[in-house]
Amino acid sequence: MKQVVVFLGVKFGQLCDGNPGNERRTNDRYGSGHFGAPRGSGTHTGLDIKCNDEQAVFAPFDVYIDGRSVPHHGVPNLGAINDGILMRGEGLCFKLFYITPVKTSGFVRKGQKLGTMVTMQTFYPGITSHVHVQMCWKMADPTPYF
Ligand code: ZN
Repeated sequence: MKQVVVFLGVKFGQLCDGNPGNERRTNDRYGSGHFGAPRGSGTHTGLDIKCNDEQAVFAPFDVYIDGRSVPHHGVPNLGAINDGILMRGEGLCFKLFYITPVKTSGFVRKGQKLGTMVTMQTFYPGITSHVHVQMCWKMADPTPYF
């Protein structure tokens, strides 16, 4: 039997207040925001979407929140920036980093508030403040969904 791969055509809706087109972080003094960009000895395993500090972050489609997700395990002194959410929706499992969640379980409808962008400038002065979007299988590139 012939196998058929269906592209679901899933697209992320607006993630951050003030960035209706999900404009991406390009290049700044700390690096680039695209998937696969160099990060020290490794690579960037997500896609960065611009988001000014303390803005509201919205559900890009209807999602179930599966819990909190910590971006940098075992890195001390990151404080409030080291926060994020694990969720699924539209057949995708993914994480959003640098967000202080409104809640860490349950259902959130598209466009409703998931959380608040952290104060990234305190930790990385001059960076393009951003939400980091990472698939649960982190070798997967989230870019096609934008
Ligand atoms: Zn990132």
